[in-house]
Amino acid sequence: MKNLDFFRQELSEFSKRAFHRRLVGGTGGNLSVRIPDTDTVLITPTGISLGDVEPEENILASLDGEILDSPREFRGSKEAGFHLAAYRLRSDVGAIAHVHPPYATAYSNKGSSLPLVTVSSRLNLKHVPCIACFLPGSPELRDCVIQGIENNPEVNSLLMKEHGILTLGRDLKHAFYLADLVEDTAKIAYIAATIPNTISDTLMPPP
Ligand code: 13P
Ligand code: ZN
Repeated sequence: MKNLDFFRQELSEFSKRAFHRRLVGGTGGNLSVRIPDTDTVLITPTGISLGDVEPEENILASLDGEILDSPREFRGSKEAGFHLAAYRLRSDVGAIAHVHPPYATAYSNKGSSLPLVTVSSRLNLKHVPCIACFLPGSPELRDCVIQGIENNPEVNSLLMKEHGILTLGRDLKHAFYLADLVEDTAKIAYIAATIPNTISDTLMPPP
């Protein structure tokens, strides 16, 4: 049976993986995980590099935002509003990753959905819409996330204009893999767009 300490450990581990995989830099990004069979989640603290989050620093909150367990010197992420809203709206969501990976964030600046240029991205991501830009931690940004995912059960990833991405997973591993796939897809789309058409033309048989 996985207990709270297991999830504290796991949240810290995937925060560090996201940082070391360069899905986020500085003190950006936040991750959370639903504690199964409860109305509670663990969320990373605000203002701390995801590369440095220790298990005991994660904050336990109820789905309606009440802080249940928090070390005195830490507060929960300023994006707790959209994390908690996503768990309330989507019972299929067990973990959430919000990170700022460079290629996907650069695509977000266009304000359109991510080009799904590989078979695996189309199979696993289905559709990655882009939501509008609002201040981090604002109710407006939270409401945009809600609009992006409610009534859209097949959406598991969002671009956040001029900010980053958000992924909704069954568990932390899944949310992390989705974030990694979104960034790799954006990178491949960027590289593919720089390759002149003439190369593929010469490889293709004549019609
Ligand atoms: P927190 O440090 O409050 O989690 O905020 C980081 C971030 O990415 C805001 O969008
Ligand atoms: Zn952010």
